[in-house]
Amino acid sequence: MQGELTSFIYPIVDVFQRAAEQKHVTLTCIVGQFPPQPQVFDSDKWEKILTNLLANALKFTPTGGQISLTINPVWEVGEGRRVQIQLTDSGIGIAPDQLPHIFNRFYQVDTSSTRAYGGTGIGLALVKELIDLLEGTITVESEPGVGTTFRLTLPLQFVSTSLDLPAINDSVVKPSADWEWS
Ligand code: ATP
Ligand code: MG
Repeated sequence: MQGELTSFIYPIVDVFQRAAEQKHVTLTCIVGQFPPQPQVFDSDKWEKILTNLLANALKFTPTGGQISLTINPVWEVGEGRRVQIQLTDSGIGIAPDQLPHIFNRFYQVDTSSTRAYGGTGIGLALVKELIDLLEGTITVESEPGVGTTFRLTLPLQFVSTSLDLPAINDSVVKPSADWEWS
């Protein structure tokens, strides 16, 4: 898809903001200033990544909790153009010994038949797979009873516009005055 990443993200966040309201959870979203050029990104993959992470944050954050999402462009020399995403929740958290396993297919921290949360344990495995395909990165930090933070970086390609192009008019080769068509 070619367009503005931020205008693609807002409606997705909006859906979760409404769901959060129902649960009396606050979901804030802060998006940094992106350059005005259009961007090229795989919207299917971006949507699946964001919805899975937001769905988890909402599912594992009890009433009265907070979720915050920040999205910022980063240009680092040698690193190219990337987007940094941070999603923090004040939810139940994940124990240190469980943390290395959460990206494994079908892994769930609480697998007891009385577990309070639905799902099948494939969301984060899919997220990791999609991030690998996009050549991005994901890390997680968590503290039981305090909350969880996921940090992602994803490459973002910008479409060059006429503004980016060197002034070529002066260097266009023109036929010289003595050129003659015969
Ligand atoms: P599915 O995504 O298939 O509906 P799921 O949400 O249980 O099921 P994943 O999204 O893969 O599965 O997450 C794996 C496990 O990691 C979860 O079951 C949960 O134990 C833990 N987990 C993931 N995100 C969070 C979070 N934000 N806070 C606390 N625990 C989390
Ligand atoms: Mg999930």
